[in-house]
Amino acid sequence: MKIALIAHDKKKKEMVELTKKFEQVLSRHELFATGTTGLRIQEATNLNIHRFKSGPLGGDQQIGARVSEGEMDMIIFLRDPLTAQPHEPDVTALIRLSDVYEIPLATNKSTAMLLFKELENLAKI
Ligand code: PGA
Repeated sequence: MKIALIAHDKKKKEMVELTKKFEQVLSRHELFATGTTGLRIQEATNLNIHRFKSGPLGGDQQIGARVSEGEMDMIIFLRDPLTAQPHEPDVTALIRLSDVYEIPLATNKSTAMLLFKELENLAKI
């Protein structure tokens, strides 16, 4: 599967912990990320990640374009619900597109873990 990973600044540590925990199963998939999120994950794991631009500079929109082209299968978007984001319209647009194309999208760690556990289950079959 093609999986996109995005985390707002205050959620980047959580994203790194999550990808370390599920590194084995994630290594079986094609991974994408916004710029800084991808860099943090690359520094902490051995995962191969295609990095788009940083979110505020268009990275969320690049991922949205992939969704609209049928080129993304899952999105983990750890949003910070307590901090205003300069690129809030891009965030909303990406969530909207994932609903248009019915792409599984997790916006917090608990849902992300459920999706990753499902990937582990699928790998066992
Ligand atoms: P970043 O972008 O990974 O480049 O920080 C994430 C975002 O804020 O959308």
